[in-house]
Amino acid sequence: MDNASSTAHTAMSRALATEAVHAGREDLVEMGLHAAPIDLSTTYPSYDVAAEAARIDAFAATGARLDGPPVYARLDNPTTARFETALASLEGTDSAVAFASGMAALTAVLLVRASMGLRHVVAVRPLYGCSDHLLESGLLGTEVTWTDPAGVAAAIRPDTGLVMVETPANPTLAETDIKALAHSCGEVPLLVDSTFATPVLQRPVEHGARIVLHSATKYLGGHGDVMGGVVACDEEFAAALRQVRFATGGVLHPMAGYLLLRGLSTLPVRVRAASATAAELAARLADDPRVARVHYPSVGGAMVAFEVHGDPRDVISGVRLITPAVSLGSVDSLIQHPASISHRIVEEGDRHAAGVSDRLLRMSVGLEDVEDLWADLSEALSGRRGAARHAREEAGAAARTEGGTAPA
Ligand SMILES: *Cc1c(COP(=O)(O)O)cnc(C)c1O
Repeated sequence: MDNASSTAHTAMSRALATEAVHAGREDLVEMGLHAAPIDLSTTYPSYDVAAEAARIDAFAATGARLDGPPVYARLDNPTTARFETALASLEGTDSAVAFASGMAALTAVLLVRASMGLRHVVAVRPLYGCSDHLLESGLLGTEVTWTDPAGVAAAIRPDTGLVMVETPANPTLAETDIKALAHSCGEVPLLVDSTFATPVLQRPVEHGARIVLHSATKYLGGHGDVMGGVVACDEEFAAALRQVRFATGGVLHPMAGYLLLRGLSTLPVRVRAASATAAELAARLADDPRVARVHYPSVGGAMVAFEVHGDPRDVISGVRLITPAVSLGSVDSLIQHPASISHRIVEEGDRHAAGVSDRLLRMSVGLEDVEDLWADLSEALSGRRGAARHAREEAGAAARTEGGTAPA
C-alpha cells in the first residue's frame, strides 16, 4: 500500500519508519546497551527525605514527569516511559501516557474531564462496543449525546468536556473527516480513537484532534500477547492524565511497556504488509457473489468488514487458518461476528442504527500469504464446513437426548 506517511517527515525530524525503531531509545548507546532495559522496581530508594517530599509535591501539583527515578511504580516507570516517548513521537504529540488497557486509557480521559465538572460527552457511533457501553452506562458519571459528525456542533453544551469519534470505526470501518469534525468542536477537545489506523496511516493531531487514543493491545503490540492502552496528547492534558493514573492505578506493567516499545519498531512494516493483503482480500470479496457488501476504508489498513448473504455464523465456524476470535491487530488473521461478540453489549436498535448489520463480519488481516487466506476464507464462505458442524452438533444433541443424558 503506497502511503504518503511512509516518506513524509511532517512534524518529525526523521521519517516514521526511522522513528519507529529509534524513538525512546536515544540513551541506550550512552548506557552501553542495545536493547531497552526492563525496570521491574515497584519502589525506589532515597536517603534524602526532604528532596523526595519536594518531588512528590511537584508531581501532585503539576502531574509533570519527575526528574530522576520514580518514587513508586504507580507514578511512573522508565521502561513504560520509553514506549510513551516513542508513541508520542510517532503521533507527533508532546506526550503520551500509557495505561493497563485501552479501556483504562479512556476511563482516565473521562475522569480528567469529569473532575473539571465537564461530564457531558458528545460521541459519534459506532464506537468499540465497550467504549459505547462505558459512555452509555454512565458508570463514570458521564452523560452522553450520540450524534453523527454533522450534528456535533449542535450537540455541544456548556458542560461538554469531550467529543469522541473512532475513525475508521469499529466494526463498520466508517470514516469521519477529522479536520471538519475538529472544526465543529470549537474549544471542546476532540478525542480520536485511532486504534484501527495507527500512526502509520493517520496522525489525528495534524488534523486538529487534541487527544489520540489507542488500544495498544491491537496493532501497537501487534502479536496478540500484550494488553495496553495509550493516550497521545499535549503535555497539559498528559499531566492531568498522569495524576488520574496515579490516583486510580490503571498503570501499564513494565514488561508490557517493553513489549509495546518492541512492537512499535515493526509497526510500519506490519501495517503496510497487512494492509496490502487486506486491500486485495477486500477486492476479491467485493467480486464474490456470496458477499453482499464490503467495507474497506479509504485510509487503508488491515481491517476488512463484509456482509454475507448467508448465515455469518457459518463463516465463523468454517475458518481453519484464520482464527475465530475477538480482538485484532495481530500477526495472524482473526475474524469475528460483531453482533454476537464485540458489539453484543450495544443494544440491538442502537447497533442497527449505527450500521452494524447482523450479517456483518469483521476480519483483522495478519501477515499470512494472501492466497492461503483467500483459500480459507473462500471455503468458509461456501458454508460447507459450518453446515457440516451444525449437522454434527444436531446429531450429537439428538443422540444425547435419546441416551437420556442432559448436555452439560
Ligand atoms: C479493543 C479496542 C478498545 C479497548 O481496548 P482494550 O485494550 O481492549 O481495553 C478501544 N477502542 C478500540 C477501537 C478497540 O478496538
